[in-house]
Amino acid sequence: MRIAFIGLGNMGAPMARNLIKAGHTLQLFDLNQSVLKELAELGGHISTSPREAAAASDLVITMLPAAAHVRSVYLGEDGVLAGIRPGTPALDCSTIDPQTARDVSTAAAAQGVDLGDAPVSGGTGGAAAGTLTFMVGATAALFKTLHPVLAQMGRNIVHCGEVGTGQIAKICNNLLLGISMIGVSEAMALGDALGIDTKVLAGIINSSTGRCWSSDTYNPWPGVIETAPAARGYTGGFGADLMLKDLGLATEAARQAKQPVVLGAVAQQLYQAMSLRGEGGQDFSAIIKGYRKPE
Ligand code: NAD
Repeated sequence: MRIAFIGLGNMGAPMARNLIKAGHTLQLFDLNQSVLKELAELGGHISTSPREAAAASDLVITMLPAAAHVRSVYLGEDGVLAGIRPGTPALDCSTIDPQTARDVSTAAAAQGVDLGDAPVSGGTGGAAAGTLTFMVGATAALFKTLHPVLAQMGRNIVHCGEVGTGQIAKICNNLLLGISMIGVSEAMALGDALGIDTKVLAGIINSSTGRCWSSDTYNPWPGVIETAPAARGYTGGFGADLMLKDLGLATEAARQAKQPVVLGAVAQQLYQAMSLRGEGGQDFSAIIKGYRKPE
């Protein structure tokens, strides 16, 4: 299949590599020329605009940083909707607010284009390994069309409902993740301060009612889980600034829905302070540093 892939960053580039490996012909566009060159060497074709990439493809996939980029890539003068043929399916995998996902999809529908949202979880490791989870907001027909292609980049492909519901699932999950990491940080740091061995404490939590992913897979205390970013200086995981972005999306969506997210708002402020300290590039589990004496 001819696939336009727009947005080839930390996530998009490995996803595109998996599609090339699966035998698709990729029309690539990004502002970063070096990633285009690298993927062209694997057999991809470089386009000069989203419009050109879309015009030459049977499916359009985007993986961009935030809502403003999604709007400009789809709705801009040289954007996807300026070039795409009616009937061509499209999917935005960026993490953005549900309302932007719906707005851009409505604009696409006016041109006979079925556009869904499918934010992912699994991080850069999952993108490289082809084991991402896709949370898909789309019509049933679009979901059916996209499923085989998504299965070449991911392992769990979940139809969440109509357009925008993929984004809802993603921001609710990350709201909880951001909060739970802070909870685990408080408990681990308190245990240490009171004098229990942190590995023993983690073992108790992980077989008791406090157990959660932030504790049993990604524990923020260094050395408790050998594969967690805490064991390698909080590098190579999910950056605190990305968590901050997702908490911003969740709290803004909550504001619009007049729904309280008390702990989410506090969590957002704690990650904001972390970012201000210049630590936004570290893995988000480094939030625990706010509970420990500096080494
Ligand atoms: P990134 O910043 O590494 O990549 C974004 C890419 O988009 C860059 O290559 C950039 O040059 C390109 N871009 C920006 N504006 C563009 C434009 N107008 N036209 C074409 N290309 C443009 O970001 P990422 O880590 O790949 O994340 C992408 C999305 O996935 C984000 O919404 C992020 O929240 C989400 N996400 C990231 C992770 C992760 O672990 N990195 C995990 C899950 C979801």
